[in-house]
Amino acid sequence: MVKDIATARNDFPILSQQINGQPLTYLDNAATTQKPRSVIDALTHYYEFDNANIHRGVYTLAERATEQYEQVRQQVADFIHADRDEIVFTRGTTTSLNWIALGFGAQVLQPGDDIIITVMEHHSNLVPWQQVALQTGANLRYVELTADGELDLAQYRQLLSKKTKIVAFTHVSNVLGTINPVQLMTQLAHEVGAYVVVDGAQAVGHFPVDMTSLDCDFYAFSGHKVYGPTGVGVLYGKREWLKKMNPVEFGGEMINLVQREITDFKAAPEKFEAGTMPIAQVIGLGAALTYIQKIGWSTIETQERRVTAAAYQLLKEIPGVEIYGPEMGPHRSALVTFNLKGVHPHDLATVLDTQGVAVRAGHHCAQPLMQTLGVSATTRASFGLYNQLSDVKRLAAAVRAAKEFFQV
Ligand code: PMP
Repeated sequence: MVKDIATARNDFPILSQQINGQPLTYLDNAATTQKPRSVIDALTHYYEFDNANIHRGVYTLAERATEQYEQVRQQVADFIHADRDEIVFTRGTTTSLNWIALGFGAQVLQPGDDIIITVMEHHSNLVPWQQVALQTGANLRYVELTADGELDLAQYRQLLSKKTKIVAFTHVSNVLGTINPVQLMTQLAHEVGAYVVVDGAQAVGHFPVDMTSLDCDFYAFSGHKVYGPTGVGVLYGKREWLKKMNPVEFGGEMINLVQREITDFKAAPEKFEAGTMPIAQVIGLGAALTYIQKIGWSTIETQERRVTAAAYQLLKEIPGVEIYGPEMGPHRSALVTFNLKGVHPHDLATVLDTQGVAVRAGHHCAQPLMQTLGVSATTRASFGLYNQLSDVKRLAAAVRAAKEFFQV
């Protein structure tokens, strides 16, 4: 069912408010998306009618909660074209990536092996690999950028060798908006026998992702960036690797038998889900994926492309604005990161807030990338399915007003 995108905004109660006397122009979707009424209702309904701990009780409520939780596992699997036993629920992308690094990376890496990451990684897909490299004696290698903000694939090919055990990179850069060629990079990594880990935090929710065609070994994303609740994320792993991967957390529910000295763990995915899981959030995530499917991919993609292209153009026309990342085109996702010459991004974002425009300013948890770009911080406008051309016009007008205010 394709829904009219112009009315989608009305599905998000938070967006109808005024901020500082102005309509809220929410342009920080890469940090977190707002939640549609259907997700909020799913959470409320769960707590009002179905709340019980899962997998334990034999009574009706517990069975109902368990059934809903497990249905969402199947729904997530269908959403990314995987199988249900390849889907592990986590706290978010960060937890997923940490578990992959500590539970799998640490197991397969030997001293002198290479881990290849990229200079555009979010700290979540950088620090865990740094830590595992320190633990195992492996070396961390970086894929650098080309002048237009894409990964230098020629240099990537040179880095790949028989020593490469893990290649970990982001599907979409949260700063540059670059969409990386996952399929090609995975194929090249597999040719040298390396495992591929993809950070999908900025991809899922913007366009369809398909594990069968990408063929990566692991993929991670967060519920709160795809219109779902905070506190829930997904770790996808190919069945054979999840079997091999060690749990990082231990406790209730992930075991078959515990004896005084040893424990027999359940099979994946259950062996990773220790303790009480974020049940309501998982159910909310299911409602979010249903909402995305109701709107439809082609509607979402068309709208986000239109809004991003307009933002790119309108900001570029402002003298003193420098935009980072690839030209507007098929390699740019739904965000525009920029600086206004002579104004610190935090000051700019503060002034934009007086106009009701919410953008992110800072290093965006990508300090090595900031160093590469030669800046300490940037301002980022990032879009979701509910953003309209009017939001972008307000952004551009607010940047122009800030320019006058700061007299730059
Ligand atoms: N990777 C990327 C590319 C991100 O943009 C983010 C969130 N900013 C993360 C990882 C971490 O996601 P979370 O905070 O939900 O764990």
